[in-house]
Amino acid sequence: MTLLEGSVGVEDLVLLEPLEQESLLKNLQLRYENREIYTYIGNVLVSVNPYQQLPIYGPEFIAKYWDYTFYELKPHIYALANVSYLSLRDQDRDQCILITGESGAGKTEASKLVMSYVAAVCGKGEQVNSVKEQLLQSNPVLEAFGNAKTIRNNNSSRFGKYMDIEFDFKGSPLGGVITSYLLEKSRVVKQLEGERNFHIFYQLLAGADAQLLKALKLEKDTRNYAYLNRKLSRVDGMDDASNFKAVQRAMAVIGFSEEEIRWVLEVTALVLKLGNVELEDEFQANGISASGIRDRRGVQEIGEMVGLKSEELERALCSRTVETAKEKVVTALSVTQAQYAQDALAKNIYSRLFNWIVNRINESIKVGTGEKKKVMGVLDIYGFEILEDNSFEQFVINYCNEKLQQVFIEMTLKEEQEEYKRENQQGILAMLDEECLRPGVVSDSTFLAKLNQLFSKHGHYESKVTQNAQRQYDHTMGLGCFRICHYAGKAMWKAQHPLLRSLFPEGDPKQASLKRPPTAGSQFKNSVAILMKNLYSKNPSYIRCIKPNEHQQRGQFSLELVAVQVRYLGLLENVRVRRAGFAYRQRYGPFLERYRLLSRSTWPHWNGGDREGVEKVLEELSISSEELAFGKTKIFIRSPRTLFYLEEQRRLRL
Ligand code: ADP
Ligand code: MG
Repeated sequence: MTLLEGSVGVEDLVLLEPLEQESLLKNLQLRYENREIYTYIGNVLVSVNPYQQLPIYGPEFIAKYWDYTFYELKPHIYALANVSYLSLRDQDRDQCILITGESGAGKTEASKLVMSYVAAVCGKGEQVNSVKEQLLQSNPVLEAFGNAKTIRNNNSSRFGKYMDIEFDFKGSPLGGVITSYLLEKSRVVKQLEGERNFHIFYQLLAGADAQLLKALKLEKDTRNYAYLNRKLSRVDGMDDASNFKAVQRAMAVIGFSEEEIRWVLEVTALVLKLGNVELEDEFQANGISASGIRDRRGVQEIGEMVGLKSEELERALCSRTVETAKEKVVTALSVTQAQYAQDALAKNIYSRLFNWIVNRINESIKVGTGEKKKVMGVLDIYGFEILEDNSFEQFVINYCNEKLQQVFIEMTLKEEQEEYKRENQQGILAMLDEECLRPGVVSDSTFLAKLNQLFSKHGHYESKVTQNAQRQYDHTMGLGCFRICHYAGKAMWKAQHPLLRSLFPEGDPKQASLKRPPTAGSQFKNSVAILMKNLYSKNPSYIRCIKPNEHQQRGQFSLELVAVQVRYLGLLENVRVRRAGFAYRQRYGPFLERYRLLSRSTWPHWNGGDREGVEKVLEELSISSEELAFGKTKIFIRSPRTLFYLEEQRRLRL
């Protein structure tokens, strides 16, 4: 059955008959094979990565969806962006767009499509355009420093990102705030086979001219750097050199000064050079092994570059200092320990650089506090990752995803209820379908309990799992690492380099305190809690991204792979919830436009109101009143069958 002429399968899974996992998958597959990558579940958008450029984006399509009647156009990410933006502008409701899915499913591309749609439709003028440009240009900069080629995705985001775009009362953009979550800093020093370090390193080496390379004391060949995977320097279809130019331009557009851009590149180079420092055993008379630096040239170069005495750097790498309130103990490190300290320092410098860049962008795009703002948040957060060797990073990623899944469940329910409330429909829970719920007294909490039950079948929903894992990672975030960083912080603070120095404020003796800084784990937990609170206060839209195959290939749809994602995204349950109340709803205007040919009262001319027109049409077709509810602005239809019937009738008349 189709809703639209020329469409394939059903465009809204709510209309699926029969509703089963298999038919749902087949429907997605059929559509995908016909290059229809978008499908709705009510107001949720399911997006299957096409791995090819489809001719459905750009100004012409933006214009089409801007001049919209939501259900009269094919499902599209622009339609979702449009509804969200209009709700923000006209109903004054803060929005958030939650994009989920596993690595390579298309989240980041989706977030960029949403941003570009909103940028295209939201206000005009020189000032406004420059704000838009800054917001959009934040993408290439963050991707250069925060994305990398992985086995799953050639341009994989290795950090989570939440971006608030702020608008004035007319709906013109004022600026924004970016929050980043947990950069995967282990990548700085080590990559799996077939993966690369962060793009910026390769961009810098490939794109810098001879003069810049000389100034940074770098060599062009990536194989000269221990931190760059020696077997893989290029990615098919990715032009590191021209991307480097684009990143520099983007930084300039955002407002980085020439000096700041140079600083950033210097610190980036520093990380590469730090990785090349070779450590060796130094014999000590008392027989205790200690480490030293094999070839002092590298260390001297680094020292010159950032204005740091090479002895300081050597001390930072080869010894550790533990300070207590009373005393200071300096211990020599073994080679293994020193190498660990070296990597820890490199990771630390890089992740602080990344955070600095995010803050610097925010400085440029932030909006004065006095102004009253409307906000659209876009969340692009890494999906579940199940690797052979699940590390701390995978754990927190999954933790965050579980939280998000919870938000999804609670908010879809809340949203359903609120729409009914807004539209003056009461007692909806009492009408819930037996399909979803057992008969008997039904309340909010039994509904939720039922959902919990449905979801708990999926391994990822168990909250106990979260708690256990948490204990585990607190344990891995033990003291050792903190102590070593402590001294490195001091050494780095002694550097003359203004940016490097500012990245290590704790090295400042005036600031030094013996209080332990919060662990990465607890920081992350807090920031997720803040994020959740923020999301709960907004009106959500969902984009559920699906990866159709493991090979980043167009046209391949692996049923097994998609089945797994459909299951843990809970799409079937999502459809059921949606169908449990009124499966279909539409504003009176567009609905009347579509079906008015079914009634002699409304066809060919109708001069009355939209709602009255809709009443006439449905009356004439003798649709049972049980099937219908008339809201303030929308007509609600309970069962998909009724809609099929309307469609059938319409086809007969055309
Ligand atoms: P994720 O952020 O979920 O890991 P990405 O958004 O980076 O995934 O998408 C991975 C790759 O898939 C992109 O680099 C791009 O090649 C392709 N892709 C994703 N979405 C689209 C789309 N809508 N159109 C064309 N290609 C896409
Ligand atoms: Mg991404």
